[in-house]
Amino acid sequence: MQKLLVANRGEIAVRIQRAAKELGLATVQVHSSADADSLAVKMADEAVLIGPPAASKSYLNIAAILKAAADTGADAVHPGYGFLAENADFADAVVAAGPIWCGPSGDAIRVMGDKVAARIAAEAAGVPVVPGSDGRVDDPAHARAIALAIGFPVMIKAAAGGGGRGIRIAHDMDEFDRLMPQASAEAKAAFGDGGLYLEKVIERARHIEVQVLADGTRAIHCFERECSLQRRRQKVWEEAPSAALSPELRAKLCASAVALAEAVNYRGAGTLEFLYDDISGHYYFIEMNTRIQVEHPVTEMVTGLDLVREMIRIAGGEPLRYRQEDIHLRGHAIEVRINAEDPAQGFKPGPGTISSLTVPGGAGVRFDTLLYQGYTVPPFYDSLLGKLIVWDEDRPAALARMARALDELQVGGLPTTKPLHQALVRDEGVAKAAFHTRWLEPWLEENAPRLSKEIAE
Ligand code: ADP
Ligand code: ADP
Ligand code: MG
Repeated sequence: MQKLLVANRGEIAVRIQRAAKELGLATVQVHSSADADSLAVKMADEAVLIGPPAASKSYLNIAAILKAAADTGADAVHPGYGFLAENADFADAVVAAGPIWCGPSGDAIRVMGDKVAARIAAEAAGVPVVPGSDGRVDDPAHARAIALAIGFPVMIKAAAGGGGRGIRIAHDMDEFDRLMPQASAEAKAAFGDGGLYLEKVIERARHIEVQVLADGTRAIHCFERECSLQRRRQKVWEEAPSAALSPELRAKLCASAVALAEAVNYRGAGTLEFLYDDISGHYYFIEMNTRIQVEHPVTEMVTGLDLVREMIRIAGGEPLRYRQEDIHLRGHAIEVRINAEDPAQGFKPGPGTISSLTVPGGAGVRFDTLLYQGYTVPPFYDSLLGKLIVWDEDRPAALARMARALDELQVGGLPTTKPLHQALVRDEGVAKAAFHTRWLEPWLEENAPRLSKEIAE
């Protein structure tokens, strides 16, 4: 492997290039016309314009990306997260065209990237799943019967959903009848697949996920991340380890994830997501993300691994270079997502030009960002500007360090979610880690209007 093409944008494109450069690889950054002056383009050895701002014509344009790889002689492609990262046809097309695909095979994506197929694989591997439909629910009468058997509220989920989209809750049969056709039409439009399945709603659950690395023969886990602080089913704050797991339960959950990854001969980096009910002590598999995740740095901070570098090495044909007993959990890490959104105004996106920028530093602090002073954030893509990650010896120390690092961070020119995190990091509930996936939304109802914004000119 000599030249890696990055088929993504934003902070993850920067992150992937860093790993590539450390491995001695040249980088090719594909970009839309809206991203010509992005940090990822500036960093790259070569940049190729692949289309106009609309992602459907650029970052989702398979033909243009394959042509860029051929024209530049790139011999590997990394998809990042989002866009084409979990598109099995893209994975196959890259391999058919010649370059190495930095991800699991198209077939592995088809099994574990489809949420219904993944549930079936989990059950076969003896991993508990949320009670729900055995497969897709196509026939309305059949769907109603399953909903009754599960009991309301019932969660309607898109088999191809992701990014917190494609999920609805029906509280009774009337609502169910109304939501089903709507959910299917929306899933078809958003994901190109109208397939739906049903799950019982696990109330007050925690979202706990396990990072795995695998080489097709062997899988290891890199412990868990807790991602229960969510808004609209999207993560806003992630940490490792989870304060809710005993050592015994951690071992059991991580063993479940390894068993499932090995059962499907998984290759690359992946995440198995679970819901954990800390009252009953039960956990349930919900889905696998067959790619690098936004929140991977918290795992890097507590294990010392470079997950992106490992996924590139594995893609290049190297066997896993670690045994399970080489992976140690040390200290505590927290990541907060800094988005160009105003938390005091319903998280209204606010693209604009960065008039000033102060990046926090010091011991145990990492800021993965696409920002530089003078950069204009385009309005066409998701609003993630960067991720502030801290590590310290234990959770209270990590919270104090995060509070300090947030105070240092200054992003002038547009609203950001920094004030939200400044409030959360000092919140008593957060200090006790006494949260679940529906904890943040009522907290926001109460507190968001008071979150002051600071837009320096
Ligand atoms: P993570 O755990 O890495 O945050 P998410 O599921 O929240 O994973 O998705 C990360 C990014 O990928 C987000 O930008 C999200 O919008 C995007 N994404 C995830 N799945 C899909 C999908 N099926 N289609 C389009 N975008 C997706
Ligand atoms: P996505 O592919 O969009 O990431 P997930 O299946 O991972 O979808 O679910 C996203 C979030 O939705 C979870 O983190 C959790 O907060 C909530 N969720 C999903 N399934 C359930 C469920 N059965 N019960 C309760 N909450 C759920
Ligand atoms: Mg998920």
